[in-house]
Amino acid sequence: MLRFEDALARVLALATPALPAEDVSLEDADGRVLAEDVASAFDLPAFDYSAMDGYAVCAGDLAGPLPVRLPVRGESKTGALAPPLEPGSAMRIFTGAALPAGADAIVMQENVTREGDVAVLSTAPRPGQFVRRRGEDLAAGALAITRGTRLRPAHLGLAAACDRARVAVTRRPTVAVLATGDELRAPGERGSAATIPESNTWAIRAMARRAGATARVMPYVPDDAAATRDAFERALDEADVVVTVGGVSVGDHDLVRPALEAAGVTIDLWRVAIKPGKPLVVGRRPGRPGARDTIVLGLPGNPASAMVTFAIFGVPLLRALQDDRRPFPPFLRARTTRPLAHDPGRLELARATLEPRGDGLWVTPLPNQASGAPTSVAQADALVCVASDRGDVEAGDEVDVLLLERLGA
Ligand code: AMP
Ligand code: MG
Repeated sequence: MLRFEDALARVLALATPALPAEDVSLEDADGRVLAEDVASAFDLPAFDYSAMDGYAVCAGDLAGPLPVRLPVRGESKTGALAPPLEPGSAMRIFTGAALPAGADAIVMQENVTREGDVAVLSTAPRPGQFVRRRGEDLAAGALAITRGTRLRPAHLGLAAACDRARVAVTRRPTVAVLATGDELRAPGERGSAATIPESNTWAIRAMARRAGATARVMPYVPDDAAATRDAFERALDEADVVVTVGGVSVGDHDLVRPALEAAGVTIDLWRVAIKPGKPLVVGRRPGRPGARDTIVLGLPGNPASAMVTFAIFGVPLLRALQDDRRPFPPFLRARTTRPLAHDPGRLELARATLEPRGDGLWVTPLPNQASGAPTSVAQADALVCVASDRGDVEAGDEVDVLLLERLGA
């Protein structure tokens, strides 16, 4: 059985080369992965300015005993060029307004009283007080946002501050999701007592979208060899990544593997040493000349297994296709409030709640860890990762933890 780390490395390797870049408006760039380095076109800030409402002065003019009385001459406001400061005077200035030539400090207005045209200053500023210097945040040409960054709202703000209205991002991967099984019906639809509401594609489509993909759920596929092959062929023609759910065990009705092969997919069926999960079909259908291969991920049908395997393999794959430099989130360390029985041999991903306490992070594994139980994934904040070579975990032990939110799950 393949170790988790090796299986992940093999999945991520399928994402090279990444998808091509496209140009988008900043408005549409949230959550996209930057396909260029963004540098500032000019010094940031572009000119010296005041961080306060108050008076611009030359600190040397306030060397004597306090309070100091200076005549008020002129005004510097945002959006206007400032006149120079007359020696021995103070200039009214507002937050964000340019520092006038000749001034080197700001006295905030709370420390000034006005007597007509005279400012009475009750504090002496040190040179540079409340002045934001040109280029102190970023020099012209300096790297502001690195290629491979998944853009968050703060990055959009920074790109705009660097005078960019558009950025290059990698194209969204397209995902087709197929659920297999004669027992499936759409939620809310009538069906016999032998049917169950199909639940996996709802979770997987949403996870794929949060990972930056355009995802579409195809009609449910019955447990029939020809129908399964036809459905896979259609999906393979229209997506970068085809995700199938169910039918990957070795039962008589597990038709996914032969149907994928019939549709021209080269398959690696892996038994990955993880719990839940284990069987995972990974494959590739060679693209037409010049086109990239279509990647296939075949997930187990049990809801908790499907969601966990898609979170730890599918989401990182979709991110890597976008050239995300951090496709897999970091592990946190936490202590467990409860013991967790663990048989060595597989990496266990136990669904758990997470709680910050005064003495650090604590996790509580949920009681129902059955791979068919969608409740525990919904109730969980995190996956407690118990290494395959480790034995039982005692209450109070430190464990590695993955935040489900960081996997978009
Ligand atoms: P399978 O992997 O097809 O053998 O399915 C394993 C279990 O997961 C069975 O109990 C199926 O009924 C259930 N299952 C498979 N696919 C889905 C799905 N899309 N939604 C909900 N349950 C499913
Ligand atoms: Mg099935």
